[in-house]
Amino acid sequence: MKEIFRAHLGFATLLVLTGILAVMWLSTHDNNRILREEENIRAQAERDIAYVLHDTGQLLSNVDLVLKTLLDTAPRAQRERAWTPLLQNTLRNTPYLRSISLVDDQNIVIASTTADNIGLVLDPKNDIPFASSPGGVLHIGPPHTGRDLADGQPQTDNGRGTPDQGFVPISYTAENRALRLVATLNLNYLIRQVTDILGATGARVSLLRHDGLRLFDTRSVDASLLMAERELTRQWQYGDPGKARILETVDGHHLITVCRLHGQLPIGAIWTVDREQSLANIRAQIQRQNVLVLLLVLIAMSNAVIGYLLFRRANRREHLLRIQAEAHRRTLETSFNACSNAAVVTDSDGVIEWVNPSFAELTGYTATEAIGQRPGSLIKSGLQGNGFYRQMWQTLRSGHVWRGELVNRRKDGTLYDERMTISPVNGTEGSIQHFIAIKEDFTQHKAEREQLEIANVRLRTIVNNFPGAVIMEDPHGRIALVNPYALELLGIPSTEGYTVEQPLQPLTRLLSLIAEDSMAFVERVEELRERARPFYNEEIRFKDGRWMERDFIPIRHHDTSFGFLHIYRDISQRKRHAHELWQMATTDPLTGIPNRRAFFECLDHERNRISRYQTRAAILMLDIDYFKRINDTYGHAAGDAMLCHIVGHVRELLRESDSFGRLGGEEFGILLPETSLEGARDLSERIRLTLEQQPLNYNNTTINVTTSIGITIMDASDNNVDRALSRADHALYSAKHKGRNRVEIA
Ligand code: GH3
Ligand code: MG
Ligand code: MG
Repeated sequence: MKEIFRAHLGFATLLVLTGILAVMWLSTHDNNRILREEENIRAQAERDIAYVLHDTGQLLSNVDLVLKTLLDTAPRAQRERAWTPLLQNTLRNTPYLRSISLVDDQNIVIASTTADNIGLVLDPKNDIPFASSPGGVLHIGPPHTGRDLADGQPQTDNGRGTPDQGFVPISYTAENRALRLVATLNLNYLIRQVTDILGATGARVSLLRHDGLRLFDTRSVDASLLMAERELTRQWQYGDPGKARILETVDGHHLITVCRLHGQLPIGAIWTVDREQSLANIRAQIQRQNVLVLLLVLIAMSNAVIGYLLFRRANRREHLLRIQAEAHRRTLETSFNACSNAAVVTDSDGVIEWVNPSFAELTGYTATEAIGQRPGSLIKSGLQGNGFYRQMWQTLRSGHVWRGELVNRRKDGTLYDERMTISPVNGTEGSIQHFIAIKEDFTQHKAEREQLEIANVRLRTIVNNFPGAVIMEDPHGRIALVNPYALELLGIPSTEGYTVEQPLQPLTRLLSLIAEDSMAFVERVEELRERARPFYNEEIRFKDGRWMERDFIPIRHHDTSFGFLHIYRDISQRKRHAHELWQMATTDPLTGIPNRRAFFECLDHERNRISRYQTRAAILMLDIDYFKRINDTYGHAAGDAMLCHIVGHVRELLRESDSFGRLGGEEFGILLPETSLEGARDLSERIRLTLEQQPLNYNNTTINVTTSIGITIMDASDNNVDRALSRADHALYSAKHKGRNRVEIA
C-alpha cells in the first residue's frame, strides 16, 4: 500500500515537473521568439527607412534635375509667356510635382502651372527658404507655402488628389540668375510611395526637413512622434545626422522608432511602430501555438496518466497475481512443511527438487542429501519387482495419480512400510513438469490394521459362534451386524436381504411374528430403544413354545450412541429343567399329587386370601387305617399301590379349585376353598364311603381299606395355617380314637 502510494506520488511529481518544464520551456521559447520578432521588426524598420529615404532622395533628385534642366534650358527672352507652357509641359511629365512656379528676384511669381499663382508675392522668410546664394541647391519650404503655391486651397487639382497635409514647396535657384523655380511636391505620390514600402507592417513614417519641420506623416501626429522628431532634430543639431537610432519610448505603448537622416539631402525620416501592436500577431500566434502545445502536452499527460493507470493496474494485477502465487507457494510449502507425512517434489525425470522435514524423519536422509537424487537410489528396498515400478511410471506418465503401498529402506538400512500417493503436476504447456509424492509411514498402521483385522476376526468368531441371536443396530435403526444364529432363529436361510445397513425394522417384525405376543414384543422393543438403558434377561415366549431370553444393550462410547445390541438366547431347555425341578420339589413322586410343602403353600395362599376377603375354607386331614398291616400283609409295593388307588379315587371326588396333597406316609390333606363345614362333612363322608366300597385289586387279591378323616374350618380368625391344621389333626386323632373309618369335626 505504501509502495503504491509512493509510486503514485512519484508519478504525480514527474507529471507536475514535466508540466512546469513544459511551461518554462514555452515561456523561454516564447520570449526568444518575441525577441527575435522584435529584432526582425527592427531590421525591417532599418530596411524600410532606408528605402523611404532612398526613394524620397531619388524623387528629390529628380525634382532637382527637372528644375535645373528647366532653368538651364529655358529661353531667357520669353520671360513670362514662354515659361507658363514650359512649366505646364514639365508638370505633365512629373507626377510627383503638383505645381511649378517661376519667381523673379522680387519674389513675385511671374509664371506658374497654376494661373492664380502669377503675381503672388512670396515671403522669402516664411514661404520659401531661398538659398542665400544662388546655385543648384534644392530647398524645401514649409508645407503651407506649398499649399498657397498650388491653389491657395486644400482641394483637388487636375485630378491629382487633395493632399492631406498640404504641399511641400521646392525651390531651385539657377546659378547666376535672378530666377527661381518653386515647385510643390505631390505629397500624395510620395505618401503612396512610402506606404507601398511600409506595406502592412503597421508602421508609421514621418518625413522631416533638416530643421525638424515635418513635411508629412503617414498618420496623425501623436506624442511619441513628436518625441521622435525632437530626438532627430537634436541629433542633427549635434552634428550626427547620418546615423540611425532606435528609440524606445514608454507612454503606454512600447514604440520602436528608427530615425535616419538622408546622407545628401536635407531630409530625415522617422519610422515608428507600436511594439505591442506589431508583436500582437506573433503573440497571438504564440498564444495559439502555446494553447496547441499545452493541449498536446495535456493530451500527452492525460495519455501518460491513463497509460500509467493502465500500467499500474496491469502491474498491480501482475503484482497481486505474483503475491497470490507467492502466498500460494508459501502456503503450500508451509503446509507441506507442517505435514506429518513426508512430501517429495521431483522434476519430470524423477530427480528430487524439494523435500519437507518429515521426509528426513521418515527416511533419515536430509534435504541436502536427497535433493538431486532419485528416490530409487535412496530408499529402494528391492522388495518390489521391476513390474511394480513399471506399472507405477506407466500410470504417472499417462497423467494419472498413483496410489500404492510398498516397502522402502531407511538410511540406517531398516525397512518400513510406506503408503504413497504420487501426483503429476502439469506446467502451463500441459506437459508434466513435476511429481509430488506424499509418503506415509505405514508400518505402525499396517500392524494396527492387522491387529484390527485379527480383533475383527475374533469378534466375528465370537459373534458367529455365539449360542444366541446377536443383532446390532446402528443409531439410524439399520443392521450393523447380525449373526447366523439370528437368521436361523428367524428361519432365514442366508444373510441375503438381512445384511448390514438394512433397516432393522423388518428383522424386528419377523421376530415379533414368531413371538407369542407380537404386539407386546414390538412395543417393548420400541420402549427399550426409547429408554436407551440396558435390560437383561427378559424372557419371551415364542409361539412354538420356545423360550427366549433377551439382553438389550445400548452401545455408547464417550456419550455418543452407536446404536443397540439385541441378544436373544434360547432358554427353552433351562426352562424345562426348572419346571422339572419345580415339579420334583412340589410333587409327590409316588402319587403325582402335591407334596407336603406344596400343599402347605396352597394352605398359606388360601389363608392369605381368607384374611383379605374374609371368607373361609375347609381343611380335611385323611389317614389310612391300619396301613402298616397292608404293608405287612401284602408287601410294600401293595402299600404303594394302595396309596395310588386312594389318591385316584379322592381326586375324582374333588373340584378343580380344591387342593389335594400328600402330607407324609399314608396321610393326606385336602383344602376346600369357600366350603362350609357341612359341605366338607358331606364330601368327607363320600370319600370315606367310596374308599370303603372300592377295595384295591392287587395281584388278583382284593385288598379292602378304610380311612379316617378330620375336618376343620379355617377362617380369618386363624393367624396361621398350623393352628387350623392342628385342629384338623385333632379331629383325625379323634376319628381314629373313636374306632376309625369315620369322619370327625374339630
Ligand atoms: P392306624 O390305623 O393307627 O393309622 O395304624 P397304621 O398302621 O395305619 O399306622 P402306622 O403309623 O402305625 O403305620 C404307618 C405305616 O405306613 C408305617 C409305614 O411302614 C407305612 N408306610 C409309610 N409310608 C409308606 C409308603 O410309602 N409305602 C408303603 N407301602 N408303606 C408306607
Ligand atoms: Mg394309618
Ligand atoms: Mg398315619
